[in-house]
Amino acid sequence: MRTFEDVYGLWLSSKCPVAGAPTLEAALVILGYITFLAIAGAILPGKTYAGTVLADGSRISYKCNGFLLLLVLLASLGGLVLTGVVDPKYIARNRGALFTTDLAIAFALSCILYVQGLSSSSKAASFEPHVTSNPLQDWWCGVQLNPRFLGLDIKFFWYRPSMMGWLLINISLAAQQLDVRGSVSLPMILYQAFTAFYIFDYFWHEEYVTSTWDIIAEHFGFMLVFGDIVWIPFTFSIQGWWLLQHDPPLSPFAAAILVALFLAGYAIFRGCNSQKHEFKRDPTAPIWGRKPELVGGKLLVSGYWGLARKCNYLGDLMLAFSYSLPCGFSSIIPYFYPTYLLILLINRQMRDEARCQAKYKEVWTEYCKRVPYRIVPYVF
Ligand code: NDP
Repeated sequence: MRTFEDVYGLWLSSKCPVAGAPTLEAALVILGYITFLAIAGAILPGKTYAGTVLADGSRISYKCNGFLLLLVLLASLGGLVLTGVVDPKYIARNRGALFTTDLAIAFALSCILYVQGLSSSSKAASFEPHVTSNPLQDWWCGVQLNPRFLGLDIKFFWYRPSMMGWLLINISLAAQQLDVRGSVSLPMILYQAFTAFYIFDYFWHEEYVTSTWDIIAEHFGFMLVFGDIVWIPFTFSIQGWWLLQHDPPLSPFAAAILVALFLAGYAIFRGCNSQKHEFKRDPTAPIWGRKPELVGGKLLVSGYWGLARKCNYLGDLMLAFSYSLPCGFSSIIPYFYPTYLLILLINRQMRDEARCQAKYKEVWTEYCKRVPYRIVPYVF
């Protein structure tokens, strides 16, 4: 039986302190990073995509230049590292202050968004305040659907510091391991390669985000503000933090199996999301070489969408496990992310299906009859 210290030792031990107090330096680093992304993202060229049709018939335009922005960010930081201005181990060595300061920034921003949302008198679907009798719930879930600041769609933008932050943390962890161990271990190499691929791919397909549940259905409050800027970078990287203090054995054969798991998960995840995205763009576009089959003329029942109603969640879960399995089975800590994702996606599947049932009514009922499996074909 593991003790509390065993499970959370990584976070609590003096070797890996996370509970540092917020500092002005950490605030300047994080706000500088966010500001850089906002300004560079606005200046850099990029293709514009129209988002989903909102309740009032309007659509938001999103400039999807995240991939270019990521390259510019890495090139800029790379230059600063080469000239000795920035230490690549900075995040790993200042994790406590960066974590708590990031948390404070998320808290402050969600309070500003709450007040800004309440003071809006707009009737546009994006800005109309969504207010209940519970102020805490409104602050947590958000008041406006697509709040803006200086012309920036903050909800769409917020994924950039979030996902890029996850990559920066990972790079810093690899640099720290190289410094301490003298080399980067095979489990760390696999974790780094898989997650870097996922993050680059995310920004390569950034326009796909415009049709996801968070963008089309969630209001922007503390849950998403915190989830993006704190939860994603700091908890999705737990495997990397863990590998700083542990050196699990991994044979080349086991590594090859993990690469196969990652590639299979990626094929399902990306294939499924691409099919839906292409279908929304052009409902006649072929799927797996054939004309798409529809239910009620609205819902796709071809390709992955005919095997289970959420194969994309299955692919994402396979990817999540491929990030953790390089750590072996000696501890449950590296399995935090896949466990969290499993719970989140089962809950998300139920919430999304409730929304689809309300939107598509008998067409959704018919779709569920045609495709009875939720996430795993022939199993669940
Ligand atoms: P989906 O991409 O599955 O989007 C759901 C929406 O798709 C529905 O609301 C509906 O919207 C439309 N839809 C559903 N079924 C069909 C169909 N058969 N044909 C056509 N349209 C359909 O869900 P999410 O936005 O939740 O997830 C997107 C990706 O993000 C997934 O791969 C997921 O794994 C990942 N994700 C990752 C998380 C993480 O923490 N790593 C967290 C959450 C998601 P409409 O009304 O427009 O038709």
